[in-house]
Amino acid sequence: MIHIERGSPPPGFEEKATELARRWGEARSRESKLTASTFRQRIRPELRAEAAELSKRFRRKCAFCEARMEHVQHPHIEHYRPKGRSEFEAYMFDWDNWLLSCGRCNESKWKHFPDCSGMPCLLDPAFDQPGQHLAFHRQDIEGLTERGRETVRLLGLDRPPLARERASWLVRVGSLLLLAACAKEKRVQSEARQLLIWCLQDDAPFAAMTRAWLSHEAPRLANPAQPHPRVSEADGLNRVARLVAEHRAETQQLI
Ligand SMILES: [Zn+2]
Repeated sequence: MIHIERGSPPPGFEEKATELARRWGEARSRESKLTASTFRQRIRPELRAEAAELSKRFRRKCAFCEARMEHVQHPHIEHYRPKGRSEFEAYMFDWDNWLLSCGRCNESKWKHFPDCSGMPCLLDPAFDQPGQHLAFHRQDIEGLTERGRETVRLLGLDRPPLARERASWLVRVGSLLLLAACAKEKRVQSEARQLLIWCLQDDAPFAAMTRAWLSHEAPRLANPAQPHPRVSEADGLNRVARLVAEHRAETQQLI
């Protein structure tokens, strides 16, 4: 999990949110058994533009587990404070309560929203600094604080399939590091270095884990005196996959 600047709502959002809240109240008075989830499902097509905007702001990744989502699902608005709990219904159309989350993280936290010494246990990536609460040891995640530990538990951030995904991404990052340092061709070294810088950026998958690992393995690259110039995110995933695959044999020799 990394900190994300959600930014202010898109133009016209406040008016739309007010109107949707009015319709929710009206529908609720007509249908006493109507749940917040059913109503949100009904109006989902009306919120496609906001979902797309939110997806851009959250770098097309799950705000919690940092898995890239565009290849498995359309952007899906989720609620930090769960809409299924009556005390949080007021936050249903609150831009600051919306985030992008994958089905697994969302399913896992569901309606749970416990309190840790007067603060929500669940870390809010748009408000908290997750690095103060969570640490990575290779692909394994550890809660450093009570809120960090509870966040891991609530979201299942240590679930084995997710840890396997992180491990497999780390293998690719490791290959890039070898190629950046020792590839025979200078051109390949330079491409691998560029891609490593992309892997450290917010838009790359599992950036918090990559930063932790590279801080240990390549501290000057991970924590440069001057920030690296930004590497374009376009096609980053494919470029990493292609370079690693094309130079697999060379990487094997370097290990
Ligand atoms: Zn997730």
